[in-house]
Amino acid sequence: MKYYSTNHNTPDVDLREAVVHGLAPDKGLFMPERIERLPEDFYRQIASMSFQQIACRVAEAFFGEDVEHDALERIVCDTLSFETPIVQVDPNIWSLELFHGPTLAFKDVGARFMARMLSYFIGRGKDRVTVLVATSGDTGSAVANGFLGVEGIEVVVLYPKGKVSEIQEKQFTTLGRNITALEIDGTFDDCQRLVKSAFLDEELNRKFRLTSANSINVARFLPQAFYYFNAYAQLRGAGEQRDVVICVPSGNFGNITAGLFAKRMGLPVKRFIAANNSNDIFLEYLTTGVYTPRPSVPTLANAMDVGDPSNFVRVLDLYGHRIDAIRADISGARFSDDQIRQIIADTLQRTGYLLDPHGACGYEALRQGIADNEAGIFLETAHPAKFKDRVEPIIGREVEVPARLAEFMKGKKLSIELSADFGDFKSYLMQR
Ligand SMILES: *Cc1c(COP(=O)(O)O)cnc(C)c1O
Repeated sequence: MKYYSTNHNTPDVDLREAVVHGLAPDKGLFMPERIERLPEDFYRQIASMSFQQIACRVAEAFFGEDVEHDALERIVCDTLSFETPIVQVDPNIWSLELFHGPTLAFKDVGARFMARMLSYFIGRGKDRVTVLVATSGDTGSAVANGFLGVEGIEVVVLYPKGKVSEIQEKQFTTLGRNITALEIDGTFDDCQRLVKSAFLDEELNRKFRLTSANSINVARFLPQAFYYFNAYAQLRGAGEQRDVVICVPSGNFGNITAGLFAKRMGLPVKRFIAANNSNDIFLEYLTTGVYTPRPSVPTLANAMDVGDPSNFVRVLDLYGHRIDAIRADISGARFSDDQIRQIIADTLQRTGYLLDPHGACGYEALRQGIADNEAGIFLETAHPAKFKDRVEPIIGREVEVPARLAEFMKGKKLSIELSADFGDFKSYLMQR
């Protein structure tokens, strides 16, 4: 399978190159040249298949030409060491719980898959790749844990000193082995600047094979399609026959784009809703037809604080830049912090289900936008305990912390402090 750049200014590449490089040389995002429609037979049997069986079939459609069958199956099965159950919240609304992985957020799926596929492509023992990742919290933990112990790959996580919660910090500073955490005396933007400068630095690129692990990488975003198929299978397995609507709390739009790919592969989803917080650039685009990126504003659902969603160009490309086609498949919604607080408190009281601030946007968008003849699934993208300090004041009681999250808290922080100066960062890397 060939991959083209959304900017159409780069020769097509194969999967290996798309995964190792992440971003295309013309700064576009890679897209597969074909999206295979899965046969009717598959959809007839899907309700009786396991998550791993479903995911293997979907993975084969994406990657089957480029990765040997057995190796691909191993990558998929190693990645999916946990389930993504649906839990009924209302008579016609289900939560797709994507927080049962090691760092309690959906990014575990993409990060674990990408780590294994990258390792497959660089081959054992020969080459080494250094993954640089700047994080304001969640990406760092998913990537660090996803790549932990994967042969041939070193991960360097940069995070702003004093600006991530203790729970988040512990998830990527206590691991050791092939994971190094750099505590930067600066902001998240400084961390991102250091990473970008490193990718452009000739000397560093001569010494290291550098790559990034954010959702622009096809090996991180495509595997997210797996759980859309699995959610549909569970809903049908439970005897639910209404048309399916899926709502995705969105930031960089990598997650929802994977769902749109699933629909293109024939998954019978009637339509999607993209739920935003106050960073409602996409909703504004749907309403006005004009896309106007702007600086992000901080909110309670901070993993969605994005002012210029990186995967928006993939949505445009997938729909041939036709806004009517986009509007036919996706609608939008936005919620302020006050509304998010209200939704979390009300929903807990009314249904007993505790939402995290991101899932709260997804749940409410669905509740407001769904018809009686539809069945809705919202993606619960993280466990509420990850945002304990924000959720507890809203509900007025403690949030129970799952054992695997509590386990991180016991670890010893092993980070290295650095200034926000590129010279310091570079000499640190050169000495490694
Ligand atoms: C990353 C993240 C999102 C946003 O996902 P995108 O793929 O960037 O749209 C939503 N919720 C949580 C908890 C996240 O960590």
